[in-house]
Amino acid sequence: MNVESLAERLGRRTTRRGREHYYPDASDADWNDWRWQFRHRVTTLEELARFLPIPAAEWAARSQVLSDFRMGITPYYLSLIDADDPNDPLLRQVVPLAEENLYRAVGDEDPLGEEKFSPVPGITHRYPDRVLMVLSNNCAIYCRYCTRKRTMYDGASADVEIDRMVDYIARTPSVRDVVVSGGDPLNFATAKLDSILSKLRAIPHLEIIRIGTRVPVALPQRIDDELCEMLARHHPLWINVHYNHPNELTPDAARACDKLSRAGVPLNNQAVLLKGVNDDVATIKALCHGLMKMRVRPYYLYQCDPVRGAEHFRTPIAKGIEIIEGLRGHTSGLAIPTYVIDAPGGGGKIPVQPDYLLHYDREKGRALLRNYQGKLYEYLEPRAANASPNDVLVPAAPPAASGPVALAGSNKKRVEAASAGAPSSNGNGHAAGATGNGTPAGNGQASGNGSSASNGRNGAAPVVGKSKWVHRGSTRAERAARTKKRDK
Ligand code: SF4
Repeated sequence: MNVESLAERLGRRTTRRGREHYYPDASDADWNDWRWQFRHRVTTLEELARFLPIPAAEWAARSQVLSDFRMGITPYYLSLIDADDPNDPLLRQVVPLAEENLYRAVGDEDPLGEEKFSPVPGITHRYPDRVLMVLSNNCAIYCRYCTRKRTMYDGASADVEIDRMVDYIARTPSVRDVVVSGGDPLNFATAKLDSILSKLRAIPHLEIIRIGTRVPVALPQRIDDELCEMLARHHPLWINVHYNHPNELTPDAARACDKLSRAGVPLNNQAVLLKGVNDDVATIKALCHGLMKMRVRPYYLYQCDPVRGAEHFRTPIAKGIEIIEGLRGHTSGLAIPTYVIDAPGGGGKIPVQPDYLLHYDREKGRALLRNYQGKLYEYLEPRAANASPNDVLVPAAPPAASGPVALAGSNKKRVEAASAGAPSSNGNGHAAGATGNGTPAGNGQASGNGSSASNGRNGAAPVVGKSKWVHRGSTRAERAARTKKRDK
């Protein structure tokens, strides 16, 4: 590309997005009025075509998916999309694409089996002490990968009766926590939401109210003083927001989150891992860092559910593991979400993470751990109170299982490779090392096989750090000398 065309392209990029590009005639009063934003959502292909190019060849396919699952894009959210980028990460989340039609028949209507666990319409009661309460089928934007899109098909009604839901919670004393979700509860008028929250607050055994919302992402104008004052009357109340991409972290979004935080509402983010949107370490890291600056805790990174019509968004599990691997040790723990897979059919959230515990021998009280650089460390569990005060390894407690805990899959491969002194992949490009004597847990002595303590990517790494049960009579100097020797 020559300099001129590059400049042209850059110039275009800076102008073909933003409020000035899409809504040059909107007044400040309108733009900042959440009702105006809501009323002016883009809901048809014809309207969308006024703002974003839609290839003629894709019109029929896109119409087809719209007949399944509605579209809604607030002017604000639209203004964050680059009109010249068909792969814009925000566009992909809300605009019906031909890919969606390709996979129209793939996936489940109710991938999490929520209907199965529904004692009354609108309630999902899967875990003993908490319930999900779905208030409406109305959202500020409709996310093309939404797990609950079955309730939002055009023509579907929100088959919910709020008093019956409240009544169910009131007569179920085990429920101490309710997640009020959507459709988006913050789309309700403040007085109506206040009345629902008051009914919930009147239930003595209900301790926590949580609200799940994408309003601070798609309609931050909605977070006004009146709403925040009302929410503050219902503490302890938490809000889970849903930012997926750093481009969503705008000054308006930051202002909305700040208002909620000042109202005493702790904010946690639940992102969804989406192919072509945020499926790389750099994007998720930028998202998490941006959230932290807005005082929003990155809470979950969800594997995209296999919901019908969302196959093009799904990534392999290895991608999620790779992203967590790229965060752990490379940023503060507070900025690292828990990567979870919601078990199909209703098994609940299952956390998945890279293998850090490579070997665990419960009988001998030894573990082999890997740090974020791929270096191996031996960790010894506390020895039994009646153990000899020598440097002799004894089990800390009677073994609960016979022999070492069996480690499955990649952990097992990693340990076997460690024993053989060969590099081993855990499926995401990271390798484990070997101890000098070929046994993962070693013999209680520092060991090395001559290979460098690698970062775990290129080959075998010796155990570089080892716990040791120290003789009671050790002096401080002896301990310091041992530590020095170990750390060399
Ligand atoms: S805002 Fe939430 S409930 Fe609404 S469409 Fe998006 S993911 Fe689904």
